[in-house]
Amino acid sequence: MAALLELFACALCARQLELPVTLLCGHTLCARHVEQDGQLRLAPCPLSTCASISSSPNIPSTSRVTYIPAPPEDAAPAPLASIDLHTDVTVSKVAALVRRRATIAPTNPHTSGDSTDAESESDVRPSTPPIIQRPRKRRRRQQPSEELRTHFDKEFTSELTCEICLLLFYKPLTTPCQHTFCAKCLQRSLDHSTQCPLCRHDLAGYAYNLHQPCNKVILSVLLRAFPDSYGERGRQVEQEERDARLDTPIFVCQLTFPGMPTLLHVFEPRYRLMLRRCLESPTPAFGMVMPSRPTQFGSGNDFGTMLEIRSVKMLPDGRSMVETWGTHRFRILERGILDGYMVGRVERIDDYPDTHTGPESETSAPLPAPVPAPHILTADLGAPPLPAALPPPPDQPDVLLHICHAFLDQLRQGAAPWVVTRLSHTYGPMPADAAHFSFWMAMLLPIDEYEKAKMLPIRSARLRLRLVVYWIEQLNSNWWFTNGCVIA
Ligand SMILES: [Zn+2]
Ligand SMILES: [Zn+2]
Ligand SMILES: [Zn+2]
Ligand SMILES: [Zn+2]
Repeated sequence: MAALLELFACALCARQLELPVTLLCGHTLCARHVEQDGQLRLAPCPLSTCASISSSPNIPSTSRVTYIPAPPEDAAPAPLASIDLHTDVTVSKVAALVRRRATIAPTNPHTSGDSTDAESESDVRPSTPPIIQRPRKRRRRQQPSEELRTHFDKEFTSELTCEICLLLFYKPLTTPCQHTFCAKCLQRSLDHSTQCPLCRHDLAGYAYNLHQPCNKVILSVLLRAFPDSYGERGRQVEQEERDARLDTPIFVCQLTFPGMPTLLHVFEPRYRLMLRRCLESPTPAFGMVMPSRPTQFGSGNDFGTMLEIRSVKMLPDGRSMVETWGTHRFRILERGILDGYMVGRVERIDDYPDTHTGPESETSAPLPAPVPAPHILTADLGAPPLPAALPPPPDQPDVLLHICHAFLDQLRQGAAPWVVTRLSHTYGPMPADAAHFSFWMAMLLPIDEYEKAKMLPIRSARLRLRLVVYWIEQLNSNWWFTNGCVIA
């Protein structure tokens, strides 16, 4: 018991904690050290040895992601109003339990007697129990010691149980309202609401600090009292996280292609969790597919693009801006749901080596799948319907490229030159190679995104260009498009 008691010493005055308050750095001090005009300051820590708080997630050293935490000045928690209401709930209760147990069941005086703390001597020395506790002590001494120990163990374990997962705390984090949860449990709760899951205290501005250090007192109690269970709990959590990374996480959001940047605003709880898991992998990436069309039956979004995470900028409330880069395409072979987001077993899609050299192989070249007339994004201008059939587009790569460039010139010189400028700003400069150019060109066209998604499965740059040229010809055959009507 003495071994446990010494863990409840204040990190500053080294005496037994009196009204324990846990700061953002994870140190627990007596309230009087951090009190100022009746309020408690949870940062900065008055300990000279305390390292500053790192608020970055557990990003592997090999990861190339740029992680920008939320600026602390926006996120500093407001000082708390009342000391009495805000002492560390778990530390107070566990310390009281251990002290009571120490006074009831004296342990070896050689181990309990090494305390040099004068003020708390009456608490830790079983030989001089405080008067106020004497009647209880006498009553308890009549109980069989076995029963007493069971009762203590039960209460002790219960105080060290997370209210969210109902398991032993793992990496205990203490909130400004002084409630403790497993770090991962608290993170997931804050993904949904900025209120404390127990007392509803508003933790807005605290979310930035999710990766703060553990409560050092509770952690040391766990390690001393339950070294095996804690180790086992750690292995379980790590295993779950590893399993979660085995499948490819899939963000159902919008169309994107390889070789293009995509900026994402991550705010949905399930995707916040997905992002955290991605960041713990050495090569953080996720797949992105378009949502199925509302009218579409089955899974129409089997093809997507893998996005490599380049940078993450956290906002104080836990949302984030994520810069990504499309690396390659994939097809979903099998899909599932993990904690609310889609995961899948995917197969990478690359282009076949294109051996096409000229018109002589034209007849043997595979043709694109029949393409329905593009659905054009525009207000209903009473435009005449698209012609039923246009002659098939040419097949030679240089002719196809020429048509694309001519179309770009037409856009630049036409009524809406800003379209090209704006889109090339969004999707990056025009790529030199035909493979990426085909995707870039498709992104620029003012046609339906689901139509553009037909590019994803095509494994030949030439065939993709052919599809692009087909769309260009469809657009050019529209009187309103060639007459410079506004493109919605
Ligand atoms: Zn102290
Ligand atoms: Zn500290
Ligand atoms: Zn938990
Ligand atoms: Zn709370």
